Amino acid sequence: MKKAAIIGGGASGLLCAIFCAKENIDVDIFEQNSKCAKKILVSGNGRCNITNTNLTYHDYFSQNPLFVEFALKEFGFVKFEKFCHSIGLLLDIKDDGRVYPLSNEAKSVASLLINYAKNLGVTFHTDTKITDIKKLLYEHDAVVVATGSEAASHLGGNSDGVEFAKAFGHNIIPTYPSLVQLHLDSKIVKKMSGAKASGEVTLLINSKKELTCKGDILFTDYGASGFAILDISQGASVALMEHSHVSISVNLLPAFTAQKLSSHISTLAQNMPHFSILDILAGLVPLKIAQAILEDLDILASTCNNEINMKLAKKIANQLLNWRFEVSDTHGFRHAEVAGGGVDTTEINPKTFESLKQKNLYFCGEVLDVVGKRGGYNFAFAWASGYLAAKDITKV
Ligand SMILES: Cc1cc2nc3c(=O)[nH]c(=O)nc-3n(C[C@H](O)[C@H](O)[C@H](O)COP(=O)(O)OP(=O)(O)OC[C@H]3O[C@@H](n4cnc5c(N)ncnc54)[C@H](O)[C@@H]3O)c2cc1C
Repeated sequence: MKKAAIIGGGASGLLCAIFCAKENIDVDIFEQNSKCAKKILVSGNGRCNITNTNLTYHDYFSQNPLFVEFALKEFGFVKFEKFCHSIGLLLDIKDDGRVYPLSNEAKSVASLLINYAKNLGVTFHTDTKITDIKKLLYEHDAVVVATGSEAASHLGGNSDGVEFAKAFGHNIIPTYPSLVQLHLDSKIVKKMSGAKASGEVTLLINSKKELTCKGDILFTDYGASGFAILDISQGASVALMEHSHVSISVNLLPAFTAQKLSSHISTLAQNMPHFSILDILAGLVPLKIAQAILEDLDILASTCNNEINMKLAKKIANQLLNWRFEVSDTHGFRHAEVAGGGVDTTEINPKTFESLKQKNLYFCGEVLDVVGKRGGYNFAFAWASGYLAAKDITKV
């Protein structure tokens, strides 16, 4: 009986173990944590955005962008859904293509995968950190490195996979945190800590507009978080790594034009003589943000009525629609959902995920230089790569 060792009991490792064991391979999973699938358990705020119905290589970042194409076609949404149904994991497909378990609980995804693997006879070695991959390769017919990335170290994130790859002469694309909060170089931001708005964030690299994303913006002690920030963080993180100048423009009221907003402010000031400028802004954005905008513009919160002329209204409107912040850093790997960079995919067979440098050695999931957008794309690649590695290991 053929023996396979899988290092890492996360998304890609579990899928690979299942498809190996289904074909009667003797599978050992080695997991450093006391339990498997820690990232699955916390994913999607405990709901697990398990995949997406629209998977294309455009949804991924890599130095080798077309690398993911074969895997996404070979184990795309339809095949994945069929597999999920076969183990009783029913799915809830949202209008925008995001897919969640019907239970709406990440727990059900983790436990069904782990228990199904156990039913198939997979042997789990938890609390077992692999350090000597060459020994493992000597003892097994195939070894799969499914160790993930450095993101979220409290859940098991580390660079072990990259170190294993280096031991076989693989090239490594520099790693960086992605889907991560940003540090803003601004004293005023701290004063807005805890305030949340729904708006738009534009990423500027060397003062050039790169990308605009809509969604929540949450101000924090160190900078900003929220979906709009996470969605631009990939570009910001790469640019910071390359020492480019990175800034963001925050539009807190995308439904307004500058003209509409300034006339709203000045009209309200004229019609409501007892309203201060702070009262007027508090009707538009959270109070902490309103206070911070006025402080940033050096405008007294008590300014009212005739003092609020069109020039002042325009100045405030412009700040509400285009508030610039310098980005000094990301919040780091510890807080990132994923990491970009990793094992250079030009040295990996895109159809089998076998190393082109070492026979019977496979790499799948986030350890590779492949990182997806938010929306289920990272799991989609983990499932697809784990499946294809298993398909190759089990071929007769
Ligand atoms: C907070 C959070 C939320 C997320 N939400 C989503 C989401 O909703 N949708 C989505 O698509 N993606 C999401 N992701 C990303 C997703 O979790 C990862 O892309 C995915 O888990 C990667 O799978 P993987 O198998 O490559 O690695 P992992 O799932 O990270 O598994 C790797 C495993 O290897 C183990 N390991 C590492 N080194 C060793 C060693 N030397 N010996 C033994 N074991 C080792 C680790 O402990 C870990 O269990 C989220 C991530 C985080 C952190």
